[in-house]
This record gives sequence, C-alpha cells and structure tokens, in this order.
Amino acid sequence: MIYLDNAASTMVRPEVAAEMAPYTGPEYSNPSSPHRGGRRARRAVEAARREVAALVGARPSEIIFTSGGTESDNMAVRGAPPGPVTTTSIEHEAVLEPCRARGDARYVAPDGAGMVGIRDVIDASDGSALVSVMAANNEVGTIQPVREMAAGCGLFHTDAVQAAGKIPLDVGDLGVDMLSISSHKIHGPKGAGALYVREGTAVGPLVLGGGQEGGMRSGTENVAAIVGFGAACRIAREGMASDMGRVRRMRDELARRALEIPGSRINGDPGRVLPGCLHMTFLGVDGEDLVVKLDENGVAASTGSACSVNSQKASHVLEAMGFSHEEISGSLRMTLSPLNTMEDVEGAAAALARVVPELRAVSPFSEKYGL
Ligand code: PLP
Repeated sequence: MIYLDNAASTMVRPEVAAEMAPYTGPEYSNPSSPHRGGRRARRAVEAARREVAALVGARPSEIIFTSGGTESDNMAVRGAPPGPVTTTSIEHEAVLEPCRARGDARYVAPDGAGMVGIRDVIDASDGSALVSVMAANNEVGTIQPVREMAAGCGLFHTDAVQAAGKIPLDVGDLGVDMLSISSHKIHGPKGAGALYVREGTAVGPLVLGGGQEGGMRSGTENVAAIVGFGAACRIAREGMASDMGRVRRMRDELARRALEIPGSRINGDPGRVLPGCLHMTFLGVDGEDLVVKLDENGVAASTGSACSVNSQKASHVLEAMGFSHEEISGSLRMTLSPLNTMEDVEGAAAALARVVPELRAVSPFSEKYGL
C-alpha cells in the first residue's frame, strides 16, 4: 500500500512504539503516585513535555497535555474569556464548532488560493475576545501569515495540528498566546495532543477533577501516548530540515507527474504550502470515485478532510475558496511524510495516470471539458 493520506493520520514510527512499550506494559503506575513506579511515570511525562515544548519553542510549564488536536482546539476556544470570536471560514471543525457554540463569531474568508488576508483578520478582530486562525490548512495545505496577524490582534490561538513538525514554529516568534498540536499527525500515537498556553493567558479548563496538568486538564495522564508524542516531537524536530526537504522534493515530483494528466491542476498557494501536501483537481472526475479506484490500485489518498465523519458533505474549505461544485467534486488530496519514498511517488503517479482516464471514460462531465 502506498500511503498518501498523512494529513489524516500517520504510522506510529517503530522508534516511537519502542519508547512507549514500557508504559503499555510494566510501567503502569499513576504519575501522581508518590511511590517509585509513580515517580518513574512522572519523569517520563515531564521528559515528553520538554520535547513537545522544544518543538514549538515553548517553556515546558506552558504545555498542557490533552487527548488530541480536537480537545486542544476546544479548550482554546471554549476556555477563552466571553465575548465575540474572530476566526476564518477554512478552520477545521474542531475550531468551527466551538466557535459556533459561542454564538458570536466572525468568519473571515480566504482568497481563491486559500490564503486569509492579514488586514482582513486584524480589522474583523476589533472588539474580539479571541482570534483563532490555523497555522496551516488541513485540506489545501496553505500556510497562513499567523505572525503578522497575531501582531495586530488581542488574545490569539492558532491550530497548528497540520503545521507542527513540518515547518519551523516558535511561539515567541509567532507571538501567539495558544497553539494546538496533535500527536498522530507526526508519527506519534493517537490519544495525545497538547495546547501551548503562554504563561499568564486568561483561559480556563474544560475538564474538572483531580487537578492534573496544573488544574487545566484533569484526569490521569495517558502516559504511554504522551511518551510516544514526546518521542515523535523529538524525531520531527531533529530531522525537520532534511526530512522536509526530501518530502517537498517527493511532493514536487508527484505534482509534476500528475500535471501531465490533461485537465489537472494544483490548488492552494504554491509559495505557501506545507512540504508534503498536494491538493489537485481533476476535472470531469468524481473525487470519491477517484479515491476508491486509487485504493483498488494500492494507493491511499483522500478527497480532503477525513477528520469529519460527514465526509459526503462538500468541503467547506473549497467552497470558501470559491470553487464550483464540479471543481470540488474532482478534488484529491495527497499528503506525504518522511516515511514515503520516491518509489511511492512513482507508483502513485502511474496509478493516477491509469485511473483518471478510466473514470473520465464513464463520466458525464468529461465531454464538457473536452477530455
Ligand atoms: N485541526 C486540524 C487542522 C486538523 O487537521 C485536525 C485533524 O485532522 C484536527 C484539528 C483534529 O485533531 P485530532 O484528530 O488530533 O483530534
């Protein structure tokens, strides 16, 4: 299987699984317990916290462990002080839904390449209690100018679930107050994530109880997943420069090969895209059919957001970018990671070149585009 759906989830690296193993086995003590086993678990959690902090230039004391990106986003949006929120219309549902629940949200639209205007956000944020703009989009991969936006806004959260571990992020340089990360997007296990909260930020907990995580997220820590998350952050940070250079070369080669297929185009802003993200439209093809056919040909890809159970719904991101129904329908997202190879790229390009014409041969739209 050629796995090109790394924006949806990633394989747990074998090195990560090895570091987790003691904590799914003999090291089962509660990190809040004062006995030796408990103290070992606590040390493991705190070591992981330092790794997560290092990935984004935070202090370890500013990292709150959560169950994943969704919980981190919810904590940021729902835990912020009352008042209007400014966000964008291309956020993940993990931000959009809690914004809707707050009731008084403004949604700034992107341009046709998926970029959100700095001035648009700053102007809309006037009088807002919170601004939330994603660091990079999970469908088209556009990297937003978060630093410039945060400089002109008040309390600022960024959903960096797709960006973390792929592009350098430094919370001090970005000037953000809160930042969400998820473990399973960077070759760590599911069930762990983090919210960076700058010291002194006015945000409250979602989950009340025993007071773990400095009272910000009660509940016994998911030690094994947190240990794996820490290992994944360390590996991502140490290898970022070389890994992401290679990922970008693979992505560019896949793009070059896929563009040879008539009626194909790349979406998003070519100058500001995540290294491993290739989002394309193949006119006259149904993306859902394309994903099924590619799967039959040994390639796992996506039409866009797999993180919503309602995958039949048209992409709100592409709608916000002004895509027509047919352009949305013909869309395919291929996302690469450092664990992919150039052979994967070759296999996927060959599969696309076979499958797209096959689907067009039976598509009612293909004639319209002269394909
Ligand atoms: N935010 C973005 C941008 C995402 O891509 C995702 C997952 O796809 C999430 C949040 C949710 O993260 P998790 O799956 O860790 O809950």
